[in-house]
Amino acid sequence: MDTEHGQSKPIGRFAPTPSGRMHLGNIYASLLAWLSIRSANGTLLLRIEDLDERTRSGPWTSLLLDDLRWLGLYWEGEPVFQHDREELYRNAVERLTAAGLTYPCFCTRAELHAASAPHASDGTPVYAGTCRNLTPAEVAARSAVRPPATRLRVPVCESPEGTISFTDRVFGRQRQTLALDCGDFLIRRSDGVFAYQLAVVVDDAAMGVNEIVRGCDLLSSTPRQIYLQCLLGYDEPRYGHIPLLLAPDGRRLAKRDHDLDMEELRQRFGTAEHLLGWVAHLAGITPDDKPRSAEELVAFFSWDKLREHHENIVIRRASL
Ligand code: GLU
Repeated sequence: MDTEHGQSKPIGRFAPTPSGRMHLGNIYASLLAWLSIRSANGTLLLRIEDLDERTRSGPWTSLLLDDLRWLGLYWEGEPVFQHDREELYRNAVERLTAAGLTYPCFCTRAELHAASAPHASDGTPVYAGTCRNLTPAEVAARSAVRPPATRLRVPVCESPEGTISFTDRVFGRQRQTLALDCGDFLIRRSDGVFAYQLAVVVDDAAMGVNEIVRGCDLLSSTPRQIYLQCLLGYDEPRYGHIPLLLAPDGRRLAKRDHDLDMEELRQRFGTAEHLLGWVAHLAGITPDDKPRSAEELVAFFSWDKLREHHENIVIRRASL
């Protein structure tokens, strides 16, 4: 059935990286992704972003599933694991390579972070194009020394297809010229691991995801993802980037903030309703922080409320 926006039924996803115990920032992002989908009668899927080997050791994935269930943020179907899907990513890289859009890159981390390189808004250096035009003989000689990463060429800045625009549900109209803002970007690392930008695009398309809700730290990655969708012939999902929760000193909440991780929060709040009621109020969804279940919060959710609060939210621990 088509919605008023001319899109099919909303399909969203949680896409956590299991690199530590879920913390307050993850709870907040998961709750909003869930409420957005539930309030539109859509379907929410779960994908574990465990491409990096370090995320596969340790108890984090099973704790994550347990924490989501405890919160009442359920998903449909079996969780999808990125480490099972390398074939899909390999095929996508092969398609891009066959179209002449990729090249091997031998630059070291130190070369990439050379002091003079301008940096994109997400902190990665704008790629200067060092390996863009290597000859086959140069590629062969360098490959014998170290395995290359794979980069995707972006259009030169004058070309219209290299400027990507989209409308975010919270942050409004966004525009980025890839050649100036990131340059040719990695789709596979030199250790063979497929890059986040590629995997996320391939997976969202394969899973039928048409609505993405995530932290605004990924707002500047979205144009790269839209460019990849365009090259691979995928539909562009709707994007809603939400403000970040910040620690009292203005830092992003991190896994090391143990007093705000689920182990601590489950003990401190006792029930999911107490915790979610407080998080929903922080997010500006409810007028007070009364205990409420995820299901009860559906009636309070609206994108208009999120748009009103589009500053990052500073957590005052004293208020916990
Ligand atoms: N796995 C990413 C994270 O945990 C989210 C990726 C996405 O939503 O596109 O930050």
